[in-house]
Parts: sequence; C-alpha cells; structure tokens
Amino acid sequence: MALAHLPKRKFDVVIVGAGGSGMRASLQLARAGLNVAVLSKVFPTRSHTVAAQGGIGASLGNMSEDNWHFHFYDTVKGSDWLGDQDAIEFMCREAPKVVYELEHFGMPFDRNPDGTIYQRPFGGHTANYGEKPVQRACAAADRTGHAMLHTLYQQNVKARTNFFVEWMALDLIRDADGDVLGVTALEMETGEVHVLQAKCTLFATGGAGRIYAASTNAFINTGDGLGMAARAGVPLQDMEFWQFHPTGVHNAGVLLTEGCRGEGAILRNANGERFMERYAPTLKDLAPRDFVSRCMDQEIKEGRGCGPNKDYINLDMTHLGGETILKRLPSVYEIGHNFANVDITKEPIPVVPTIHYQMGGIPTNIHGQVVVPKGDKPNEVVNGFYAVGECSCVSVHGANRLGTNSLLDLLVFGRAAGNHIVASALASRNHKDLPADAADRSLERLARLEASTSGEYAQDVANDIRKTMQQHAGVFRTQAVMDEGVTKIAAIAERVKAIGLKDKSKVFNTARIEALEVDNLIEAAQATIVSAAARHESRGAHTVNDYGDTPQHPNGRNDEEWLKHTLWFSEGSRLQYKPVNLKPLSVDSVPPKVRSF
Ligand SMILES: Cc1cc2nc3c(=O)[nH]c(=O)nc-3n(C[C@H](O)[C@H](O)[C@H](O)COP(=O)(O)OP(=O)(O)OC[C@H]3O[C@@H](n4cnc5c(N)ncnc54)[C@H](O)[C@@H]3O)c2cc1C
Repeated sequence: MALAHLPKRKFDVVIVGAGGSGMRASLQLARAGLNVAVLSKVFPTRSHTVAAQGGIGASLGNMSEDNWHFHFYDTVKGSDWLGDQDAIEFMCREAPKVVYELEHFGMPFDRNPDGTIYQRPFGGHTANYGEKPVQRACAAADRTGHAMLHTLYQQNVKARTNFFVEWMALDLIRDADGDVLGVTALEMETGEVHVLQAKCTLFATGGAGRIYAASTNAFINTGDGLGMAARAGVPLQDMEFWQFHPTGVHNAGVLLTEGCRGEGAILRNANGERFMERYAPTLKDLAPRDFVSRCMDQEIKEGRGCGPNKDYINLDMTHLGGETILKRLPSVYEIGHNFANVDITKEPIPVVPTIHYQMGGIPTNIHGQVVVPKGDKPNEVVNGFYAVGECSCVSVHGANRLGTNSLLDLLVFGRAAGNHIVASALASRNHKDLPADAADRSLERLARLEASTSGEYAQDVANDIRKTMQQHAGVFRTQAVMDEGVTKIAAIAERVKAIGLKDKSKVFNTARIEALEVDNLIEAAQATIVSAAARHESRGAHTVNDYGDTPQHPNGRNDEEWLKHTLWFSEGSRLQYKPVNLKPLSVDSVPPKVRSF
C-alpha cells in the first residue's frame, strides 16, 4: 500500500513515549495550547518510570547541608569525566526547581516532621566534594517513580494532552533535507499503519535494557527509539556504557533500590564481612554503582560469594528494624517475599549486579534537540527532532550514572525540550510536505513479515541477542570476549532479516509486535558491542581487564586518547568520535583525576 492510501493525521508535536520524560515534555506543550499527540505501547502509567523506587536527586538540603555545586561535582566524578559539564551544570542547577514544581503538581513525597520533603543518602552523593555522604534523594517511600508518573499523567489529563495508547511507532520520517516530519505507527488494536505528521517529533522511548538476559527493565524496554533513529541515519552515542545495578535479586533480576543501602543496608560476602569498607573507605556501600558492582564481582571471583555455588552477595537489612523497613522500603519487603522467599527483616537477601540503565543514546544538546556531526562540526541540529529521557544522551551521565539522576534528567530535559519547542513558535509555521517514500521503510519491514512462509521465531532470535550480550558485554570485559561478541551479533543481525511470522492476523497480534521490536533490539545490541570493542580503555561502567583490571581501574582510563564520545552509525556499523565538553556554563571545570571513594 503506497503512502497515499495510509490514514494520516497532523499535529504540532508528536511525542513517542509516555514515561516520565515524555509526559513532562507533553505537559509543557499542552499547557501552551499546542496540539500534542503522545504515543505509547502501553497505558502511560505502565511505562518503566513506574518501577523507579529510590528517589529523585536535588540539592534541597532539607536534612544535611547541600548545594548544586556538590551535586555537580559528584555527577562529573560519577560519570568518570565522560559527562558534558555544561549539561551537568544545567541539570544540577535546575534540580530544586523541577522537584518543587513536581511537589506543586501534587507529588506525594514522604515528609520530614517539619513538613519538608524527605531525602535519603544514595550512591556517590556527597557533601564537600567527596568528604562525606549527603541526603539528596527526594523520595516517596520506595515508590518514587510510581508517584511521579501518576502525578504527571493526572496533570496531562487536565491539560488535555492527546494520548494514543497501544500505538507503536515504527519509523522516523525524514525528507531529503534530513528534516524530521513525524513517524509511522502501528495501531495495535487494528493492525493498521498510520502516518503521524508533525512540525516537531520528540522521542522519549526509554531504555533498551532488554538487549541483556538478566535485566531490571520492563519487557517493553526494547530500544525502539534507538532503532528508529539508527535506521534513519542518526548515530547513537556512548552505547558501550551500560550500568549494572549492584542489587538485582539473584536469579530473578528484579531490582532492590539503592535506597536500601541509603537507609543503611550492608553488602556482605560469604564470611559475613562488610567488604566495601576495604574498597571504598569513605563511601563504603554507597560508592557509585559501577564501582560497587565490580567489587561484588571481584568478591565472587575470589571465592567469597555466598550460597552453595558461591555466586551471589548478601544484602543485609536485618539491623534496620521492621518499622523502618515497612515505612521506607515497603516494596522491597514485598519483593523479598515474592521473588526470593526471604523476610528481609529477619534474614539477608541474595543479590547480584544486574543490567539496569543505558548511559548512551540519541545525541542531544541541553534543549533536547538531536545533534549529529556534519562536516567538521560535531553537533549540528536535526530540524524538527528532539529526544529526552533514557533514550537520549545529552550527556549528563557519561560513563556511569548516579542513582536518582535519571528521574531528575527526565524532569529537567523533558521540561527544557518542551520550553524550547514552545519558543519556536510552531503555530505560525506550516507542516512540510511529506516525501513520497515517507512510509516505505515501515511498509517494507511489514511486507517482509507478511511474505514469510518460514523462518525463525522472533523470540528465539531475541533470546540469542540477550545471551550474547550478557556473555560478551558484562561487568568485566576482555578485548577477546568483546571481539568475539562483535562477530556473533553481526551473525545474529543476518538472522533478524529472516525472521518468520506464522500468525498473520491483524487484531492485537503481539507476535508481529515482538518481531518488529527485534529490529530495534539488534540496532541497540550492535551499537553497544561495536562501540565497546573499539574503546581500548577502562572508564566508568566499561571495564576491560586488558586495560587495568582492579575494581578501581586507576591505570585503565586513558584520557589522552579516549576522553571522547563514541558515535555509532548503523550504516556499515561505522564509528566516529567527538570531544567531551569539559567547560561548564558558569563555574570552573572539574579536571579529570583518579576516582576513589
Ligand atoms: C526498576 C527500576 C528502578 C529505577 N529506579 C530509579 C530511581 O529510583 N531513580 C532514578 O533516577 N532512576 C531510576 N531508574 C531509572 C529510571 O526510572 C528510567 O531511566 C526512567 O524512568 C526512564 O524514563 P523515560 O521517560 O525515558 O522512559 P520510560 O519510562 O521507560 O517510558 C518509555 C515510554 O516509551 C514508550 N515507547 C517505547 N517504544 C515505543 C514505540 N515504538 N511506540 C510507542 N511508544 C513507545 C513506552 O510505551 C513508554 O511509554 C530505575 C529504573 C528501573 C528499571
């Protein structure tokens, strides 16, 4: 079916994704009177943001002395200097404002006796530039994301945002000038393809944590935004950096928030030893995640893992007392029962580092505008295209994100992108004409599935991607293991093209949707493994034994050659690099040094 026969709709702005970042942006736009469509594969309040537990970072200083300079310093150091310091300054300075705004939207934060927002300590959050832990994580028990997503949804309903629920965006529409003119999308209920035309298109599609086998991420986190951008010629930035969260439930993958350790939980090895004291004398269990994950792996590797197979670490909360646990960590208590058969008030719970968050994504500037290299300019704006939230890379998280900085990133950059779009006076502009081939890429992908009479199941291919990524891009990597991973993923990419679809029915055909998702998984997986194998150093979450194999890897980071961002292009699986911005907006730069905690 050619473009002329497809149903079409026009909006000022189309947002793909109704998580925290998409709904923060849409709220800004709908309130300004723009005609906004928000697409989501699931009902908005089921987006992965709902699963966020621990908190939102902001230097409110409600419970211990804090200011945005400390937050800025921690974030730069946490990022292992790969974060752009202008973006980090912007985020940390905006933090108190967006949190108070959220409070005024009706967010049910926990409260201190004096009525101020409750804040808990978190990994890598310090006062006086690393001297001591600080209380910066604004929390609603251990259901912060849940409270935040519902608050934003209610505000959007009030502002009359148009939601397209159970609509899956398939591909980005770009014209010959490279401008973005909207998306093609599949209405799941009918199986029909639509063209959604827009003056601005904003991606807020979340992470791609499902490229790994053991993941804390929701099943819908298949990196669709990354796949759509990559297929349309937009590079993906810093995809080699994936965060392993130290405390996923052993054998289940479900997350136990860092808020547990914020409230005082302790990691112990088979000897009952609080081993983090040895590795990080100041921050102990609250060192940043990349660091703690490596220390746990090291303990297991050296034979001090717990259990019959010595393959996990114990997270001990028994000393916190039932009352604190039920008040501050009620979901963690339930997760202990449901996923580990453990009463965490009475016994420790088995945990292992589990894939959690992608630091990389679609490159943007601090207004959320997508930027790509053109000639000798590294950051040229793609007209009409924005990205915010976990699918984007602005880059505030660099090589390792600090806990609570993601929910903050959603609010700060969702709002900033919304404001930037409002300021661009869309009402006075017309929609650009669609190119004749606007829907071709999507229609070809669907036709391939329709025509298939044999071929592999999408699930089998997806599982092989996950298994391969788990084995070849883990907590500790070696050059040989990554190189082998590149070859294996390239071979799986060929199999993706030959996936077959047995059930050709239209209505709510989840098999077709899963097959389409695999096209996105493979782009994210390829970007990750190719970028990883090419980075010959250890930095943040990318730790390669060949380049320094201690948990701290002080000698593994190579700033002379590798203090730069990776850009991966899908076409030819090509890599390019661009400089890190070490210049903040107003303060002095934090120069690179060895990370110790
Ligand atoms: C278990 C867990 C706990 C966490 N806890 C914290 C925490 O305490 N603090 C913190 O700062 N961070 C935390 N994080 C990280 C943080 O929650 C996420 O990074 C963040 O919520 C992502 O938000 P988002 O808006 O980018 O995307 P999401 O909330 O993931 O939403 C993505 C949206 O995109 C839609 N979508 C995707 N593809 C398509 C498509 N093709 N078509 C249409 N719609 C599409 C989805 O339907 C969804 O609406 C946690 C993450 C996890 C997994």
